[in-house]
Amino acid sequence: MKKIIIVGSGVNGLVAANYLVKAGYDVTIIEKKQITGGACIKDSEIIEGKNIDFAYGATVLGMMPEFIFNETGLSKEIVGFYPKSPKLVYFKDEEDSTKIFQDSSELEKELKNKWGEKGRINDFRNDENKVVRFIQKLYKDAITPTVEIAYKELGKELSDLWIFGTAKDLLDHYFTSEKSKLYMGMTVIESGPASIYDPGTAFTIPLMDSGSVYNGYWGFVKKGIWKITEILTNINFALGVKIYLNSCITEVDTSSKTISFIKDDKDVRLNYDHLIFATDPVTPSKLIKDFKDDIVLDEIGTSGKVTAFFRNPVKWKDSNNYPDSFRFIFSNNSLNQFEDASQNALKNSGDYFAGFIQIYPDGSAQRTMNNNENYDKLILFTKNLSYDKKADDLGKIRDEIVDTVLPYIENANDLVHSKFLTPKDLNETFSFPKGNIDHITLTGKQNYNNRTFSDNPNNFYSYYYFPDVYYCGAGSFPCGSVAGTAGYMCSKQLVRNDH
Ligand SMILES: Cc1cc2nc3c(=O)[nH]c(=O)nc-3n(C[C@H](O)[C@H](O)[C@H](O)COP(=O)(O)OP(=O)(O)OC[C@H]3O[C@@H](n4cnc5c(N)ncnc54)[C@H](O)[C@@H]3O)c2cc1C
Repeated sequence: MKKIIIVGSGVNGLVAANYLVKAGYDVTIIEKKQITGGACIKDSEIIEGKNIDFAYGATVLGMMPEFIFNETGLSKEIVGFYPKSPKLVYFKDEEDSTKIFQDSSELEKELKNKWGEKGRINDFRNDENKVVRFIQKLYKDAITPTVEIAYKELGKELSDLWIFGTAKDLLDHYFTSEKSKLYMGMTVIESGPASIYDPGTAFTIPLMDSGSVYNGYWGFVKKGIWKITEILTNINFALGVKIYLNSCITEVDTSSKTISFIKDDKDVRLNYDHLIFATDPVTPSKLIKDFKDDIVLDEIGTSGKVTAFFRNPVKWKDSNNYPDSFRFIFSNNSLNQFEDASQNALKNSGDYFAGFIQIYPDGSAQRTMNNNENYDKLILFTKNLSYDKKADDLGKIRDEIVDTVLPYIENANDLVHSKFLTPKDLNETFSFPKGNIDHITLTGKQNYNNRTFSDNPNNFYSYYYFPDVYYCGAGSFPCGSVAGTAGYMCSKQLVRNDH
């Protein structure tokens, strides 16, 4: 039986292990922490003597392909849902929300009335669906994303607009109002301060809708999203995957195909036929003996999150009949302001440049799933934080974020506690290079066919020039997310190479 060692037990390592053990390999995972899960784990706080669990890193599920959810066995054990109610968008100069209906015609009417939108919303959605279906086919068939295949499957016009073009051109093509462009384009800076003028950034927009577990939408998991990695760990154990936790790798020798590490003060050395790094992309370069290139990732992360805890269920002043809806508060009214704020964060010229806050009502969703907890939780996910300071040094910024949201809540006095994480914290907690939740920003030079560390386009998940070494962490195609797509695609490529 051929031996595979996987370094890292985040969602990508766990998904790769699941497919490879079922393909007949002897699979071992080596993890440096005491628990599996990577950035998809829980945290807990005791507030006024009562415990509350919450998502430490990732919070909402959406990008996982449905086939991975089913084939790994997760679907049998995970309870979850996505809200069918409209998302609610607030701009600072507006009294009430604009509703992002799932139905295109209803949405067209709403955006026309609220934002004076005269563009082509139906065409945008139809074309986006074509691109999304194309991406989903790449996932399922584990096909390398190339320029040629995009041109062949989508045609030159759609490919140039949606995959290789700038986010700015894509938004200008379909929309007339700045507010529609802002809402539809906000995901461009999901992972870091990518410029909307950078070729290749258009692709991030359909990418974020390319999950199928919740039909392209984002939703919730009963108890919390960490159940995905917790349950997958148990499924993998039952299938025979071996896991070494709390292990410190000292060397990877690709010529003798051995990996050495220290576990419980003992030296361990294992042989492998194939080695997969499901870590950030810098880690393998530090561990592989004789690695010649010095990988330095310049792109910083600018995302942070506040988890806010309330004594009683949050009552919204607006649209309280949609308690499970995602809400978005924009501090900018134009694409130029949006771009300035994210580029200022890139230059690190201040601690925080307000752009938008995404609000995930996880506590309400838990009640909908009959999980009654001691506190209600709102997750406030935001961008444009500087890279260099920890949450402890930025109490004022945490207050500014919370104070942007509280005016929308009737029972704001029920807020009892909040927990803040900055990019620097994410770097220290999850080893994300420069705190970037996608490990590397989805700029043009790291999107679609460029999101690889292989020097061989046919071996997309290979790690540089090393034989039998692969990389499938969040820095690889498609991007960082609780999806496992990279782990799955890498495992398929490995099996193909082996036959
Ligand atoms: C604050 C925050 C919010 C997010 N929100 C969402 C969200 O709502 N929805 C979503 O889908 N995604 C979200 N993400 C992104 C998502 O969490 C990650 O992209 C995803 O979990 C990455 O999975 P991974 O398996 O590629 O890597 P990781 O989860 O980073 O796992 C890598 C593993 O490798 C281990 N490792 C590293 N170095 C070594 C070594 N030398 N030896 C052994 N082991 C090593 C690490 O300890 C870790 O366990 C968020 C991330 C953060 C931080």
